[in-house]
Amino acid sequence: MTIDYVEQALNLREKLIARRRDFHRHPELAFEETRTASIVASTLSELGLEVQTGIGKTGVVGILEGDQPGPTVLVRADMDALPIREETGAAYASETPGKMHACGHDGHTSIALGVAELLTPLRDKIHGRVKFVFQPAEEIGKGANAMVADGVMNDPAPDVSVGLHLWNSLPIGSVGMAEGPIMAGALTFNITVRGKGGHAASPHFTIDPVVCAAQIVTAFQSIVSRNMDPFESAVISVTQINAGEAYNVIPQFAELKGTVRYFRKDVYELVTRRMKQITEHIAAAIECAAEIEFSPMTQPVVNNGHVRERLLPVFENIVGQGKIDSIRTMGAEDVGVFMNDVPGVYFFVGAKDQTADHYYPHHHPRFTIDEESLPLGLALLASAVAEYVLPQAD
Ligand SMILES: [Zn+2]
Ligand SMILES: [Zn+2]
Repeated sequence: MTIDYVEQALNLREKLIARRRDFHRHPELAFEETRTASIVASTLSELGLEVQTGIGKTGVVGILEGDQPGPTVLVRADMDALPIREETGAAYASETPGKMHACGHDGHTSIALGVAELLTPLRDKIHGRVKFVFQPAEEIGKGANAMVADGVMNDPAPDVSVGLHLWNSLPIGSVGMAEGPIMAGALTFNITVRGKGGHAASPHFTIDPVVCAAQIVTAFQSIVSRNMDPFESAVISVTQINAGEAYNVIPQFAELKGTVRYFRKDVYELVTRRMKQITEHIAAAIECAAEIEFSPMTQPVVNNGHVRERLLPVFENIVGQGKIDSIRTMGAEDVGVFMNDVPGVYFFVGAKDQTADHYYPHHHPRFTIDEESLPLGLALLASAVAEYVLPQAD
């Protein structure tokens, strides 16, 4: 039995586009994806899948049970939009002011529904089952954990996990599937610097927390450049500085906030240890007191070598040799939660819009994709699942 997934996906092309445009018109923010979730649930139910709703608040799970025994493949798609006011001018632009699908999750939801539609008629030939996981709240990094807390990794527990992200900096026809860490772990930090306030004209009676905060920001710049192995990667970005309210008052406090990105646990440990040392010791050196708090957001997304090796020829069959890219990004994703204890692959599907006058990245108010990436994404994702549940020869 040989199935041409590209042809099958192209048969669903109009449906994929129409569905993606409908989701695009009606974007919903993290944990508010009720309309999207109900369309997902009813589509899966109509196909005859066993459906659970309200998993991780607004998440949906659908199980396509094959007639033969075999493994469980988890397919993950995220459903949430962003608090951005759309400026694309598209005919199917957001009808909700201040909300927009500016990351492509509308396409992911449409593609995963397409996988269910494409594979359901093959049920009698499927060995094992496909567990479709429609996740809420990816953009705030909380949806995957919420679904796991509601038991998504049990009954049945997946044996392998696959998912994709449409990627609009990658040309159509290219697939990003590097081995190992492909998306960064992320955390946020809050620093409070305490000094002693007073009159700006008499600094000698004060301990200035602004000067201390500035020195901490500057000293952080040496961690990546001087403490880290040059072959490793990390980002430390201070993104907020808050202190004082008047021209002539030295404030009591200064606050610094920002984010750290990393690929490896030892890099995470090095960076956070040095940030803590720098914060406390610079403060002590200029007689302030300072503390730093870290809050984890997401862990790195790590592609399993065996799964990647197995899917490489499958994908090359679809996009051709030399089209598998090895891009990595310091962007963060919570899909890693589904790939923690289960071998898996998360891949990027080229979706670059050649008609755009400029390049507008993910999360930009003019973010667009080439919708031909939808049938291509469907062919890739369906064939990845089939590699595990549909033996090639009958
Ligand atoms: Zn995003
Ligand atoms: Zn995204």
